[in-house]
Amino acid sequence: MRVYNFSAGPSMLPLEVLKQAQEELLDFNGTGMSITEISHRAKPFEAVVNEAVSLLKELLNIPDNYYVLFVQGGASTQFEAVPLNLLVKGKADYIVTGNFSKKAYKEAKKYGDIALAASSEDKNFTYIPDMKSLKFRDDIDYVHFTSNNTIFGTKFTEFPHTDATLVCDMSSNILSEEFDVNKFGLIYAGAQKNLAPAGVTIVIVRKDLIENPMSICPTMLKYKTQATENSLYNTPPCFSIYMALLVLRNLKKMGGIKEIQKINEYKAGLLYDYIDNSSFYTNNVVKADRSIMNVPFVTPSEELNDKFVKQAAASGFVSLKGHRLVGGMRASIYNAMPVEGVKALIEFMKKFEKENA
Ligand code: PMP
Repeated sequence: MRVYNFSAGPSMLPLEVLKQAQEELLDFNGTGMSITEISHRAKPFEAVVNEAVSLLKELLNIPDNYYVLFVQGGASTQFEAVPLNLLVKGKADYIVTGNFSKKAYKEAKKYGDIALAASSEDKNFTYIPDMKSLKFRDDIDYVHFTSNNTIFGTKFTEFPHTDATLVCDMSSNILSEEFDVNKFGLIYAGAQKNLAPAGVTIVIVRKDLIENPMSICPTMLKYKTQATENSLYNTPPCFSIYMALLVLRNLKKMGGIKEIQKINEYKAGLLYDYIDNSSFYTNNVVKADRSIMNVPFVTPSEELNDKFVKQAAASGFVSLKGHRLVGGMRASIYNAMPVEGVKALIEFMKKFEKENA
């Protein structure tokens, strides 16, 4: 039986996509081989890469002056690839709004003069700093931030106001809502939430930004290497890229980002409304900064939190345990989580509340 999987990542994939992958596993496109057995240099695989790139461009309205790259090492490797490629003057400012942006900041410090522009750690990352009062230094190469904070359930509803190049980790909300790519110099995202199984990371980078990597930048981390080779410099994570293609086709078929955004807002709205109207469950995030992808919540006690997670799992709602930095529960409701899954979770929450309040 398929369960409703609220994992923060790797997370649910659309059922249709999983079924298609299952169907094609022994014979991909009449090749008599599975996609995992085909050379990455063979035409059928190159066609997969090209279609995935072109669908990403179409769905996200990515202009021609950007490269779309498939790289490896997860979003975490980008914490280093970004400074190694983009530090030309040697200075960058970071906004720290969670565990991952803090890690990105820490890694970048190894490579240049990196400053903390703002942090929301004073209140355990339950809010996003006010963009209007944020000041950045002069002469910086870029400003780095994380648009959606997977662990803490916050998101930027406004992007930093700056003329400097904006770099964004969109791992946990890419493809979930519309945004203007032109505002960014570079966007990166691990695939394992809204796009594909783990293993591939997408990088969307303005073409003029890849020309001056630091001399110590490893060849594998140079964007130029992957841009020149159509993301096929070395053996890529073939299966993840293929799955990304199926997910992108599926997203296009259902109406693209505009449509999924409506659904995502509706799902998150249902859950937050229920939590806000309940005296049993609480979400501690500043309302205006709430994520529509990751919804942390608690019951009145640790004991009830544990009981909730166990009973939920037994009822087919899995991976609801919150991150250890926050505790309680977290429902990750990415693109592939159906509306029925959220509605069913709310029904379970009501029942649990009745029995335990
Ligand atoms: N950034 C964000 C926002 C994330 O949610 C994660 C993983 N959950 C990472 C970075 C790290 O990604 P990876 O595990 O692919 O290195």
